[in-house]
Amino acid sequence: MTATAPREGQLWSRCGGCATLLYRKRLRRNLDVCPECGAHARVDAPERLLQLVDPGSFTALPERPAEVDPIGFVDLLPYPHRLTAARAGTGLAEAVVCGTATVGQHPCALAVMDFRFLGGSLGCVVGELITLAAERALADGVPLVLVTASGGARMQEGALSLMQMATVSQAIAALREAGLLTVSVLTDPTYGGVAASFATNTDVVLAESGARMGFAGPRVIRQVTGRDLPEGFQTADFLLRHGQVDMVVPRHALRGRLVALLAAARAGRRPASRPGVPRQEPSPLVARPAGGAATTTAAPGGDAWETVRLARHPGRPTTLDYLETAFDGFVELHGDRLGADCPAVVGGLARLDGRPVMVIGHQKGHTTAELVGRNFGMASPAGHRKALRLVRLAARLGLPVVTLVDTPGADPGVRAEEQGQAAAIAENILALTVLPTPVVAVITGEGGSGGALALAVADRVLMLEHAVYSVISPEGCAAILWPDRGAAPQAARALRLTGPDLCRLGIVDDLVPEPAPAAHHDPQAAARALREAVLAHLLPLLDVPPATLVRRRRQRFRRFGAARLGARAGAR
Ligand SMILES: [Zn+2]
Repeated sequence: MTATAPREGQLWSRCGGCATLLYRKRLRRNLDVCPECGAHARVDAPERLLQLVDPGSFTALPERPAEVDPIGFVDLLPYPHRLTAARAGTGLAEAVVCGTATVGQHPCALAVMDFRFLGGSLGCVVGELITLAAERALADGVPLVLVTASGGARMQEGALSLMQMATVSQAIAALREAGLLTVSVLTDPTYGGVAASFATNTDVVLAESGARMGFAGPRVIRQVTGRDLPEGFQTADFLLRHGQVDMVVPRHALRGRLVALLAAARAGRRPASRPGVPRQEPSPLVARPAGGAATTTAAPGGDAWETVRLARHPGRPTTLDYLETAFDGFVELHGDRLGADCPAVVGGLARLDGRPVMVIGHQKGHTTAELVGRNFGMASPAGHRKALRLVRLAARLGLPVVTLVDTPGADPGVRAEEQGQAAAIAENILALTVLPTPVVAVITGEGGSGGALALAVADRVLMLEHAVYSVISPEGCAAILWPDRGAAPQAARALRLTGPDLCRLGIVDDLVPEPAPAAHHDPQAAARALREAVLAHLLPLLDVPPATLVRRRRQRFRRFGAARLGARAGAR
């Protein structure tokens, strides 16, 4: 049960945990924790800041978000209408409040998410603001504290919202390299793209009592598996038991725990030992579709929904097919070294035009038996960890990495959540942002949400002509926003998930032509086209020094949020 925070003007409020009628002022004095049953009601970002930081110490970052609608998204309502309503309803500009403050006299940068604002969803502005908070921490040489509350990536911004997982993760990586503490405080609820990135790839992860965190939500898992979920599934105590959080902290103790962590980090740092790290300036965005709304969404010669069906065609060449045809001498490597080998991810050493490369990809299959045996290309945490092991091996050996992405998404199962799916994806994203060797990713079929991005943070992202890449499946999007799964074709058009759309948005660099009418009609020709495209993009990267490579890769993902901010307001 989740308690409901009291609304302004109400004298009394009913506890969502025990249904006791509580005097609102008494509840607020008790930090919105029910004095009868201990249920933690959700608190908004301004209230959270009051609870955590030293009085009067908070200064908001000067940057202000501009009005954005990058893909002209319309479901039952145009996205700008939903934004306007969220702003009016919360008094906030966006779903996160960022700034600097002291906590127990220890300076830090903070980003506090607000679930009231479109479900705390991660869009371009939210990603950019959190990134700026992280960069502020880096510039000031202070820790970063993130308080998360989110349903996941903001589907109204399409794949651009997915990119924010990488953008924020690379900012976290920079703090890691600089030896600055990062702490996330999971509050209820923290799901999807936020869980699978900065909520879990920080140094220390605290879960507030009553918080739930996971990659896939309970409703989706119940629908997919048809099973009842274990008692307390994805709750803070469940997360602690499964090794996914450092501690579960009641709200009253949260500030004290943060003070202790910040004090320890400060004591551990020798003063002035850190060389100054230049702050990265946001770079301007690449060309956008003029006007936003009503630009074409379909691949040439086909509707977006038709492209989705082609991308899912069981005859489409798989990763193992391409390894047989486009590469030579594939030596498959198995296992995550932690107890499992995931069949939905294959990888190993191969040669491309005589050059050694590490190839990692999702593996589907052509028959029902193959698909079931490969879990339909949906990687388990073991699959993500196998991929992580292989990219790290590539880095040690100085080998370029080629990834082939073809997955409906990450595994929506109970075990995957128990085994830390969100953190496994988050760690891959972070590792790829700092990999010192070239990475070329090819979306060969379905690029589904965080499961796809876990293999697609790359220097060059290519896409087969009839592949799709999306923050959520059209069916999932339709079920939430319309709400009617039958609206999947409309959702497919609204999400801008085809290659031409994603090229225009700058998410994809190049399209790989398929033999007419589609790859499964001539797999050999499809393999030749893929090989030529990968070579054309990989060869120029081989001479780029590692530091330059990493810097450019960071800029590539950074630019998706940068133009989402208006002029710096200056007022502090
Ligand atoms: Zn209660």
